[in-house]
Amino acid sequence: MSEQQDDCIFCQIVAGDIPSRTVYEDDDVLAFLDANPLAPGHTLVIPKAHHETLGDLPGDVGSDVFAALHDLTPAVEAAVDADGSTVAFNNGEEAGQEVPHVHGHIVPRFADDGGRPIHSLFGSRPDLSDDELDDIAAAIEDAN
Ligand code: AMP
Ligand code: ZN
Repeated sequence: MSEQQDDCIFCQIVAGDIPSRTVYEDDDVLAFLDANPLAPGHTLVIPKAHHETLGDLPGDVGSDVFAALHDLTPAVEAAVDADGSTVAFNNGEEAGQEVPHVHGHIVPRFADDGGRPIHSLFGSRPDLSDDELDDIAAAIEDAN
């Protein structure tokens, strides 16, 4: 994908056309507070270049984003005295991604916050046989 996309709200933040509460910036990555936080300190980490999903990211950019998540997660937790954090990507529209520019969420978690684990996002679990699990594992290995 191109470096910037005019109609993308996160590209406009990168360009400085929309304000943000920036908490980290380098040549390739920007992190800023979510404007509609799920918890105090809710932070978004994005590549500066426009890419829609994790699968669209060049490997080096993916590494840059993860490095920033790695460094920022304990910093965010410390800043708001959190007990932990949920770190997640809504990856693709069907997965709930509303802004089509890759972003990792760091959501601080507190012992009494009433939140739940990522597993609670899903309803009933599929009943997969050993053969089906073997086939899926092989397909992932082949596709990578
Ligand atoms: P997602 O549903 O994973 O695409 O999350 C998009 C996130 O972007 C939401 O948590 C929004 O609150 C957040 N967001 C949208 N616009 C802005 C903005 N201008 N500045 C900061 N965060 C934003
Ligand atoms: Zn963008």
